[in-house]
Amino acid sequence: MIDFESYIKCCEKKLEDKFELIDGIAFKNQEKVLKAFQKNKIAVRHFAGTTGYGYGDEGRDTLGQVYADAFHAEAGIVSPHILSGTHALTVALFGLLRPGDTLLCVSGEPYDTIRPVISGEGIGSLKDYGVNFKCVGLTSDGLFDFDNIGDTLSDGVGVVYIQRSRGYELRDAFSCSQIGEVCRFVRGRGFKGCIFVDNCYGEFVEECEPTDCGADIIVGSLIKNAGGGIAPTGGYICGGRDYIQRIGGRMTAPSIGLEVGSYEGGYRYFYEGLFMAPHVVAQALKCSLLIGIAMTDLGYKNYPSIDKMPFDITRCIQFDDADAMINFIREVQYASPVDSYVTCEPWDMPGYDDDIIMAAGTFVSGASIELSADGPVKPPYIAYFQGGLTYEHGKCALKNILNKLAKQ
Ligand SMILES: *Cc1c(COP(=O)(O)O)cnc(C)c1O
Repeated sequence: MIDFESYIKCCEKKLEDKFELIDGIAFKNQEKVLKAFQKNKIAVRHFAGTTGYGYGDEGRDTLGQVYADAFHAEAGIVSPHILSGTHALTVALFGLLRPGDTLLCVSGEPYDTIRPVISGEGIGSLKDYGVNFKCVGLTSDGLFDFDNIGDTLSDGVGVVYIQRSRGYELRDAFSCSQIGEVCRFVRGRGFKGCIFVDNCYGEFVEECEPTDCGADIIVGSLIKNAGGGIAPTGGYICGGRDYIQRIGGRMTAPSIGLEVGSYEGGYRYFYEGLFMAPHVVAQALKCSLLIGIAMTDLGYKNYPSIDKMPFDITRCIQFDDADAMINFIREVQYASPVDSYVTCEPWDMPGYDDDIIMAAGTFVSGASIELSADGPVKPPYIAYFQGGLTYEHGKCALKNILNKLAKQ
């Protein structure tokens, strides 16, 4: 019998320095979030639900402002009516762009579910509405290609789009400092439009957010980092007040903007989720590093390198074949608090071209801030592992995985 627990202790010893840095970041972010609550004088009444049009819904309006303040932005839309990260990105892009404008993505191909939103044919995509799309790939080192960005930046570009996290690409997430470099670069070239960041999986990973480094708009999902594992659904869009107003016309209707929107269930989970988010993100980062160091030890290539501090909560782990990948993902499912008895199968998920296998034995359906793993079942057979509401849960999952690998 192999003593997995002493092995895990060994791994933890090697991660001590990084864990200390993560605790430091969580503390800074907790202070930021707390300040945002205090500045907005959050009280019990903000948690109350409303019905119908929701005119004067103080909980809704203040929720947007608290998120905005936590992200050092002017204004924000935070709503359970934003159904997912993809929906949040869609609302924001449609709000900002007009026929004839160009959307310029500078971080390589955007995330799978956003591609049809941008360039789908006859499905009400941005393209169908006459918005052009240009995409600048990354250099072979996975970095921003400044020469190409400079050459592609033209008068018609209305939005420069940056994806912070890797998505289903084999590259590391961008740091806020790298994002800041792009912002300074495009401004230096006279760009006057909106710098837009898909912030999914990046919130509270560093002490700063893209909005601290020159981004005008950041967008994300509440069932990832920003909802702290507590928000039951939703998304956020934060940034400059004028941009948020403009997006508000698309979020609801052009005439009524952000004056309406009710939610009878109330807003406590959304406030509490933001409050928890810095801590929960720290737990997820520790889970990612622990799994990373163990898988590296066992000879599996995985990214980001465990020698580096991660810039998002996801970890890609490469397997030799489909079976090995599927087995790993199944073990994560077996280590879940919910649906632990279920064996994951790949399926044709809406919005994705390939069959996706997903372990998400989560309290909130599909929440990937909870311990989860997924990926398209195709070469190079990469599983994307992320989340963990508690670090201890990550340890339990690792024990499961080690056990399975030992049996083989
Ligand atoms: C998850 C994710 C999205 C989309 O979010 P959903 O909530 O799944 O629609 C967009 N971009 C990135 C980088 C993501 O990781």
